[in-house]
Order: sequence, then structure tokens, then C-alpha cells
Amino acid sequence: FIGSHLVAALCEQGRDVICIDNECTGNRRNLAAYQDQVQWISQDICEPIQLNVDEIYHLACPASPAFYQKDPIQTMKTGLLGTMSVLELAKTCQATVLYASTSEVYGDPLVHPQHEDYFGNVNPIGDRACYVASKRCGEGMMMDHYRQDGIAIKIARIFNTYGPHMAINDGRVVSNFITQAIANAPITVHGDGQQTRSFCYVSDLVSGLIALMASSQETIGPINIGNPDEISMIELAQKIKRQCQSTSEIVLAGRPKDDPSRRCPDIKKAKKELAWSPKVSLEDGLDKSIQYFQTQLSTGVID
Ligand code: UDP
Repeated sequence: FIGSHLVAALCEQGRDVICIDNECTGNRRNLAAYQDQVQWISQDICEPIQLNVDEIYHLACPASPAFYQKDPIQTMKTGLLGTMSVLELAKTCQATVLYASTSEVYGDPLVHPQHEDYFGNVNPIGDRACYVASKRCGEGMMMDHYRQDGIAIKIARIFNTYGPHMAINDGRVVSNFITQAIANAPITVHGDGQQTRSFCYVSDLVSGLIALMASSQETIGPINIGNPDEISMIELAQKIKRQCQSTSEIVLAGRPKDDPSRRCPDIKKAKKELAWSPKVSLEDGLDKSIQYFQTQLSTGVID
């Protein structure tokens, strides 16, 4: 999902892009428009990577709780062994490596908004640990390779991101609510819907990642990339229902364990060090996403 937009933006800049993907959640059709410009390698990043590159964006890992919890051991392996193999590649080629970390490293935060200096409130053995713990360990591995081997690194903490190319069955809240609203089916809000998230449109996120990669060598992060516009899940359901002109009923369903109660990035650091801030409002981003899902569903795409 994010990778496809990143590849498109890099191709538009005239960069030569090599994409490594085992398609465990992604889909090659999202790169159809760039297939002549992109070298595609079908590979699990846990396997050794033999390439010569100067920049590495390491985004590999399922990010939807529904997906990363399906095979938690594989998620752990991707986070740990995958990051090790990416760092080996960076060391061999002397490449700069940007690591896609996550707001999940803050766990169920007790501090709002979340500033990069906050260490978080994390359950290390819960259902989300395969993702959270491996991402936290990934950040540590990046820092160790920077300190011990002098590898050029960048760590981005990505907050909730949405937009076209999310899989219809992705399981995250924006794609679930939109597909439910389009079908006039019940919109399933977990718990009482008072929990919040802050949603960043994918083009904003990608421009943040590219700005981080282009930043000076001293800027290594971690640096929050997200949209600080915070919204509760019940409000999000109402908004999506309205924007889809849907007749869906909004229903309350069970809340997953360890589901964070509030999440909102402090983006002062990104503003200062990258001169970056998000541009796309939630209304506009949702409109674009709704249009995308409508087209996908009308042409019978279900994954
Ligand atoms: N959520 C929801 N209904 C859904 C899917 C998710 O109410 O059909 C809630 C979920 O419990 C969480 C929030 O929406 O509070 C964001 O969930 P998501 O899986 O998108 O991402 P997370 O930030 O939890 O990784």
C-alpha cells in the first residue's frame, strides 16, 4: 500500500527503483502504471539480499493488526531477521537505510500528543507484541548499526495512514468503514468508539518519507510522520457514512485486546528538521479513498 505510492513518487522523480516484495499483503497490480520502470524481485526480505543500491526504504512488514496477528511468528521474523538482512545489505553497499517504524512503539500511550522522546506504554507479551516488539527492536538494531558500523540511517515513526491501494480486506478501520458504508452494511465500531486515531493521507506520508531520506546525515530520527488531526472512531464512522451518503447503521462491536485508547503525533520535529507537514484534509483524503474503493468494488476486486 504505502510502498506502491512511494515507488510511484520515486519513479516520477526519475529514480531507478528496485522493489522487493513477497506479496504477503501487497499486490503487484498497484504498480501496474510503473511496471516498465521498476525491477520487481519476488523475495522474502528475511533471505539474504544481493543488490547494489544507494538508498533503501525498508517498509517490509504487514501493518494491519488483522494481518500481522494471523501469523505472529512470521511477523516477528520479518521484523527481526528481515531488518537484519536489510542492514547487512546497507552495510555492503554503504547505502542509506530508512526504517519504517510505527506509532505502535508508543503502545497505549499515557502522554498526548506523542513526542519522539516518549518511551511508550507497551505490553511486551500481548497479541500486538509480534508487531510492536519487533518494530521497537528494529529501531534498536538500526541505532546499533549506526553507532557500531557507521551505517547511515533514518527512522520514521509512521502514524495511521490511509488512501487508495489499501486492500479491501485489509482489516483496518478506514477500509472497513468505507467498504461497509458503500454496501449500506452495518459499520462496526469497536468498543464505545471513543478511542482516537489521527489519519494521514498516503501522499502526505510519502512526501514525509522522501524528505527524511533527503535530509542531512545528522537527521536520523526517530521522527514522527503523521497527521495530528485527532478523531474518535465513532466520529470517523459518522463522517464516512455521511461522505458515502450511506444508509448504514453504526453498530458497536467487541474491542480488541490492547487497542490503544488515544493516538496523535507531535510533529514539531518533522516540521523543524524536514520542513514537512501534512497538506490533505481528512475530508479530501476520505473522498479520494471512497472513490477508489467504489471503483474497485464495482470492478469486482475484493482483495
Ligand atoms: N476499529 C473499529 N472497527 C473496525 C476496525 C477497527 O472500530 O472495523 C478500531 C480499532 O479497534 C482501533 C481503531 O479503529 O481502535 C484503529 O484500528 P486499525 O486496525 O485501523 O489501526 P491501529 O491503529 O489499531 O493499528
